[in-house]
Order: sequence, then structure tokens, then C-alpha cells
Amino acid sequence: MIRQPSRKLVLFLLIGLLLFTACRKANDPVTGQTVLSGDEDRPSGEVPLPSSSPLFPKPDGGEEEDPGESLPGEKEGENFRREFLVCLDPGHSAHASTKGEPIGPGSKEMKRMASLGSAGIRSGVGEYEVNLDVALLLRDELEKRGYRVLMTRESQDVLVGNVERAQMANEAGADAFLRLHCDGSDNPRAKGAMAVTISPDNPYHPENYRASQQLGQALVREYTRATGLVARKSWTTDTMTGLNWAESPAVLFEMGFLSNPEEDLLLQDHEFREKMVQSLANGLDAYFGEGTDARKEKEDKDE
Ligand SMILES: [Zn+2]
Repeated sequence: MIRQPSRKLVLFLLIGLLLFTACRKANDPVTGQTVLSGDEDRPSGEVPLPSSSPLFPKPDGGEEEDPGESLPGEKEGENFRREFLVCLDPGHSAHASTKGEPIGPGSKEMKRMASLGSAGIRSGVGEYEVNLDVALLLRDELEKRGYRVLMTRESQDVLVGNVERAQMANEAGADAFLRLHCDGSDNPRAKGAMAVTISPDNPYHPENYRASQQLGQALVREYTRATGLVARKSWTTDTMTGLNWAESPAVLFEMGFLSNPEEDLLLQDHEFREKMVQSLANGLDAYFGEGTDARKEKEDKDE
């Protein structure tokens, strides 16, 4: 008689545990595994917490500029953005492959060509879904502002490797290659946005380091100012296949942590996504705008 309730309790706990495990697995609809971070995001599981003094301090206040208007010095009716082709690369897709590909042109070092990325710890939404949804909104906004935009994918149902993504940008002659990703960590407190670029000693395209840094800084500055997310120290690495193959300035932009419950829910929020998209477009405007290296190089080339 006394043992009866305790047996029921054990059974109840067991069912609870099974349900919890099933829910966790549902995070990844394709393989049934919980994949925290894609290879292209972060080779190690270590994620530094945001520093207390961000690299990109938020300027206090300031007038919001209207990006739809012509910049000062522009002739009427002329939109400098038409000169630029932006290649948007929504990270991952619903298909993964363990096949390897060289991490840079001519390299013998191989890395997995496609992974699923992380998944929302609260929402259960796959990183590849967030990346594509935001990229499609950003494409529309950039086209509205006058840019030409190329997408490396517009569907979840494709298997596209990181070399191929960079080659699409290269073949089209992109002026910037922007790769959109969300971060994942074992530490649920890890938070913030970050730009990843090649290092100054990149063995493949070191000439793109400076401009890539400028693009990354402009994006992080505008993005964290608009969204209120923490700016993490930018990361330079020569281990990212898609960045190593790019022949143009390239940034892998981590929009926030899907492993952080708070940021996961923000990244799914419609109004928050509008801020993300507007600020990323503002970052590109700042990068391509008057007086910047990108603009001067374009003008020199055209002369
Ligand atoms: Zn990713």
C-alpha cells in the first residue's frame, strides 16, 4: 500500500523526462539531433561572453537619418546604391551534408560543406529558417533603396555548400558578400551580435581584410544601436570557407543567440525583425555611402 504512490511518482517522472527529450529533439526536424552550432559559425564550442566595454560603443541619441533620401552632394534623381550589387547569403538550409570541401582556394584542409546550424532554445525554430526569413526581408528593403541584390538561396529545400555560396557572389561580381547567421552556445547566457571576417594574414584574399572590417563595423554599429543587443568583439578567423573563397569584402554576421531564451524570442518577433532589417540596410548604406573606401574604389574603377 505504501509503495503504490511512489511507483506512480517514478512513472510520472519517467514520462516527463521522455516528453522533454522528445521536445528537445523536435528542434531539428531533419536529423532529429540537436545541433547547437554549425561548422561555419564557430569551430569550437567556446563562446566568449560579451565584454563589459563593447568594441562599438553606442552613440548617445542622434537623429535617425532617412535612408530613402539622396545623400548630400548627390545629383537629384541619382541613387548611388544602383552601382552596387549586394550578395545576401542566408546561412544553412534544411539539408545538411557531411561531405568535405576545401576551406580556401587551393587548400588541402577540408571542412563540412553544409550543416543545419543552431535552433531556438525556446521557439524550436531552426536557424536556417530565421536566416532566410530575415534575408528575404532585407532583400526587399535593399531593392527598395536601389541596390541590386543576389540571393544564394531563396528556399529551405536546397543543399548548397559554402564554396558554392561564395562562388555565386564572385561570378556575379558582388561588391559585398553578407552572410546572415544566428549563434548558438552551450551557455544560455551567451548573447549579442558579432561580425566575423577574415584576418589580415588571410592566405587567400588578404586584400579584402580592411574593407571587410569596415563593413562589419558599420553593420554591428547600426544593428546594436537599433536592436539594443550587445555588440560582441568582432572575430577575425581564416577558418570560414565562405569567407576565404569570397573575392569581395565579406562578413558573416551573427544576428544573436538562438541558445539564449530572450534573444531567441526576439529573433522570432515581427517588429524586432523590422529593426534588424532596417539597421542592416543602414549599415550597408554607411559602408557604401559617400566618402567611404568602397565608394571611392567604385568611382576610380568607373573612370
Ligand atoms: Zn549558422
